[in-house]
Order: sequence, then structure tokens, then C-alpha cells
Amino acid sequence: MLTLFADNLTRFPGMIHSTINLSAFPTDYAGAVEKWSHEVDRLSAVQKSFPLGDLPNNNLIDHPLITQTAWLGKLNAPKVLVLIAGTHGIEGFAGSAVQIDFLMRLKEQQWSWGEDIAALLIHALTPWGYAWYRRCDENGVDLNRNFVDFSQLPVNPGFTDLQPYLLGSDQQLRETAFTAYKKQYGREQFELAVSGGQYIDPLAPFYGGVQPNHGHRVIKSLFEQYQLARRQLAVIDVHTGLGPYGYGEVISDHPLGGDGFKTAKNWYGAAVTVPEQGSSSSVPKNGLLDYAWHRIMQGNSCFITLEFGTLGTASLFEVLLNDHGFWAKTPMQQLKQIRTDAGWQQQWQTVREAMLAHFCPADPIWRESVIFRSRQVLQQALTGLS
Ligand SMILES: [Zn+2]
Repeated sequence: MLTLFADNLTRFPGMIHSTINLSAFPTDYAGAVEKWSHEVDRLSAVQKSFPLGDLPNNNLIDHPLITQTAWLGKLNAPKVLVLIAGTHGIEGFAGSAVQIDFLMRLKEQQWSWGEDIAALLIHALTPWGYAWYRRCDENGVDLNRNFVDFSQLPVNPGFTDLQPYLLGSDQQLRETAFTAYKKQYGREQFELAVSGGQYIDPLAPFYGGVQPNHGHRVIKSLFEQYQLARRQLAVIDVHTGLGPYGYGEVISDHPLGGDGFKTAKNWYGAAVTVPEQGSSSSVPKNGLLDYAWHRIMQGNSCFITLEFGTLGTASLFEVLLNDHGFWAKTPMQQLKQIRTDAGWQQQWQTVREAMLAHFCPADPIWRESVIFRSRQVLQQALTGLS
């Protein structure tokens, strides 16, 4: 147990400060499911499971691959706080910690809200990526680029320019190409080219897919099952890997000046950043999960990405490109055989450790910051809903 700012405790409301227990961070996917389920079981919640289905190598992981949900509070509550973890598989390590901390504190009665509010927790939305320490799903699809009109896929010409340099092992060649592109078009255009979303290369990062994937279908199913379009919503989707180290940036991708935009500003204040205005660590992107929620939201609702920064954008791209380069050589069908190979194991360990170091640093200060900031933002959301 670590105590945060113990000397200043009296200056702040007890809701956010108090001890921060870093055991909320899981050690792996199976451990996350176990911890999360244990905490949900201690509360009175309606639970649902969405199995990923049969994959050739499901049995390589210690736990069946599933997305789970928990509904806390009255089923007919007109207002709902929605927490999402693992939209990008591996980013679920921090997303789970936020939810587990929330559940533990709920059990300790350190959170409270009116009877007109319920909470919906969505855990491990991309379970395959979570279990295999990847950002994407089992088909290389980035769920957060998957909410597009599939009859009219977006085109990203910058990606096509850079594609030949992305997965090659010649790092020097890649850096030269990146530097030249940035010099010609600027940093923002470069980031759009690489990470804005692409629909042509399933092996490269930020691939949005050609049909709704598992997480997409789960979200649409939850819209129906809980009739979410009829309720007032505060959605918080936890991500990691972009922005300043340890800072939890509240990002709104709502259309400028619209109701969601205004609600986000009202609830979360001046800290809200907006990619479209250039004030965010993120550039505007294709196919975000946000857009599906925006479409069902009525007044006084908003969706925010709570993005915890780590090691910077250059590290993000480098680590992800190495991960994709490695997995491009590992066909899913052969994963079971390859996995017993000592050379493959060693390479996987290197890739996996680099992914974890980028998306969920072991540094207790970083982890403390995640818990502390998430409590602030959750409190803002609940106050907003109230
Ligand atoms: Zn993410």
C-alpha cells in the first residue's frame, strides 16, 4: 500500500485521496479476469459474458477469452456511468486497474451516488489483444478504427506513402523515411498518416478492418440489451500510451460546439482537449468507438477518452511497429506449433516486454498517477450526471 500526498490529505475531499492500492493492476489477462470477477462478485451486479468464440489457439491462454460486463445499480436507472477497459487489448492493464480500484472502493462505500444513476463496466473489450500483449485483435484489427461505414472505407494516402517502410527490419531506412515525411508535410500530417486509421493492410498498425469485429458487436449488443440510447450517459474509455508520462488526458472527439462537446467541457472543465482543435496529444482519427456512442447520445451526455501518457509518440510508433513486424511473421494457424520454438519464445518475450513497458510501465509512480487521476475523472463524471 502506498500513500499519496499523505501530508496534504486534509486539504482535499476524502473521496479521491486516501490510500492507493497498486494491487488493482493485474499481472496478466487471466489474472485481470480473476481479480475483476472477484470484485464484481462481492457486489450485487448483473453480469454478462461475451466469449470471443473459437480460435485455433484459444487453449494457449490460461483463461477463456471473453469480454465481461457488470451493471451496478437499478436496471431502470435513467443515468449511466459507463467505464470501458481494453478497447486496445494491452491497454486493458491500466483499464482493469481503474475498474478494479473503482469496485474495491465501491465495496468500501467510498463511492456513492443517487439511485437514478447506474454504472456499467465493460471489461476486456479486445480480449485476444489483452491476452497476447497486443493492441489489436486476433485479425490485426484496431477496434478504435473499426466504427466506419464499411461500404465506403476511408482512404489514407499518407499511409500508402509510408507503408513500404513500416514493417521492414531496417530501422535506419524507416527513420529516414519518417524524417523526410515530417519535413515535407509536418508532424500532424505524419501522425495522421501512421495512426489516423488505414483499411488496406491487416499486418500494419491502426488497421480498421472491413467488417464489425468482436468489440464492435459487443458494444452494439449492449446498446440494445440495456437500451442505452434512452438514458443519459457518461462514458469513459481508458487508454494508455499517448501523451505526457503519467498524465491522464481527457479527450473529446465530439463535433465542435455540439451538445456532447459542451457537456464534456461542463463536466471535465478546462482540462478537456480536442483533437479537431489541435489541443490534444491525439490527432483526429477514423472509425473511433466514440462515434458509435455519439450517434445514440441525447442531451447532457458525453464520451471521453481518458488517455494516460507514457513514453511519447516516437516510442509508441517504434514499439508498435516492432510488435507488428514480429506478428506479421507468426500466422495464427501455426501459433500453437511456433509457440514451442525457443527462438520464437525469446523474440516474443522481447516484443511483449517492450509493449508492456510502453503501455503499462511498472513504475509505481506512473501507476499511482493512473489510479489518482481516474478517481478525479470518475468523480467529475458522477457529479456531472448528478
Ligand atoms: Zn488506445
